[in-house]
Amino acid sequence: MAATIIAPPKIRQTNLLIGGKWTESRSGKRFATVNPVNEQVLAEVAQGDVADVDAAVKAARAAFDSGPWSRMDARDRGRLMNKLADLMEANLEELAGLETLDNGKPLRDARAADLPLAIDCLRYYAGWADKLTGDTIPIRGNYFCYTRREPVGVAGQIIPWNFPILMAAWKWGPALAAGCTIVMKPAEQTPLTCLRMAELAQEAGFPDGVINVVTGYGDTGAAIVRHPGVDKIAFTGHYETAQKIMVDASATLKRLTFELGGKSPNVVFADADLDAAVAGAEFGLFFNQGQCCCAGSRLFVEQSIHKQFVEKVVARAKTRQIGDPFDLNTTQGPQVDADQFHKIMSYIDKGKSEGAHCLTGGSRIGNKGFFIEPTVFDNVSDDMSIARDEIFGPVMSILPFKNVDEIIDRANNTYYGLAAAVWTKDVQKAHRFAASVRAGTVWVNCYDVFDAAAPFGGFKMSGMGRELGAAGLANYTELKTVTMSLG
Ligand code: ADP
Repeated sequence: MAATIIAPPKIRQTNLLIGGKWTESRSGKRFATVNPVNEQVLAEVAQGDVADVDAAVKAARAAFDSGPWSRMDARDRGRLMNKLADLMEANLEELAGLETLDNGKPLRDARAADLPLAIDCLRYYAGWADKLTGDTIPIRGNYFCYTRREPVGVAGQIIPWNFPILMAAWKWGPALAAGCTIVMKPAEQTPLTCLRMAELAQEAGFPDGVINVVTGYGDTGAAIVRHPGVDKIAFTGHYETAQKIMVDASATLKRLTFELGGKSPNVVFADADLDAAVAGAEFGLFFNQGQCCCAGSRLFVEQSIHKQFVEKVVARAKTRQIGDPFDLNTTQGPQVDADQFHKIMSYIDKGKSEGAHCLTGGSRIGNKGFFIEPTVFDNVSDDMSIARDEIFGPVMSILPFKNVDEIIDRANNTYYGLAAAVWTKDVQKAHRFAASVRAGTVWVNCYDVFDAAAPFGGFKMSGMGRELGAAGLANYTELKTVTMSLG
């Protein structure tokens, strides 16, 4: 196919947004964000530290405590959110291009998935802004008792690099709808789209201090977590970081929601529509270069179709188009950075040395940029590292299984519990699996179906609380009970 290469957009914003002003960090320090295609520095971004975080929290506190945000009519908050969504739609090409530049994901995916989902999320939550109601409660005695849903306050939001703009929207949407103000820290690998989104929020007319963005590394995130002026932390990333956040947040007992990693079972029964299951297995694992917390990274295939399935899935893996993410034919770009690249390559080595069969891939592509071949391992057993640990890369592990009784225990044999999928035409089997698997999301005959209205989050060490839907909104509220004597 002839290449159709789109030109990358200009990088416009690399400073911190604090109280409505774009500023250098107080220390004057900057850090590099790197293009994963060629390892060249894209931009030097302001590196916020404790002093910048303190200023951002004060701005967010002021916008929350004394207005204008807390005094604004809920309908007007919803209108601003819709306006931001409209501006993101009007600037979709630029935002998608920035995402591709910073993260390395194919532009066609940023255009078709990340941006539309982010915009949809803001619109979904804009609709909630004026629909947060409490209850009237019939209590004993001569009293009128009711509840109010109030915003939790200043939300510290710390996000990862795999879906930068989408994660920002998942965090801003419910926080803004509930009436919270925000101090956000995007990932150090991918700060650019969040900064541009914050510029668009200013253009939409969000009052100063409602949305603050402090870029930096993990210590910047830790400063947000430790700040006594922050009421809640919403974090997406690695469980080990979440463990540190729990410790740091304990001094002030902050509300916490976590969306963490996974090792999700994707189970294909012999009675499944084979081609659909093969396509779902490929998409469920290789999408976004395998950098998805819900990737179907343990692919269980029933013994009787194992040979056929493996042939088909390997053939599909080989058709993936790897290269320049700005080429519209590209379906797989580079991994996000050198650390991730080396981690994935070390898991590929472990897979080989622990005895799994590498059927395709297994190597770096080229010697510049973080490109890895789509890799398929067969004959993986439950105790191998590639079946236990989250790899976060284009590495598929196929584990054969015998029957439904065996598979539920094996699917649950992990400390994670984010997502799971099952492919079968047998309704009973599908329901039995869906009810028995310990995971926050179960897909039946599909994979990676996301909607702003459908809650998402993890059992076990995959998280705490839910994002999206009404459940995601509830996490940004405090419930207040008011009891009034009727004389
Ligand atoms: P990943 O492995 O996906 O990079 P991390 O958990 O390391 O996941 O990073 C996710 C986000 O958490 C990033 O924005 C990162 O800078 C931030 N972060 C890292 N360490 C800390 C910490 N100790 N406290 C708060 N945030 C942190």
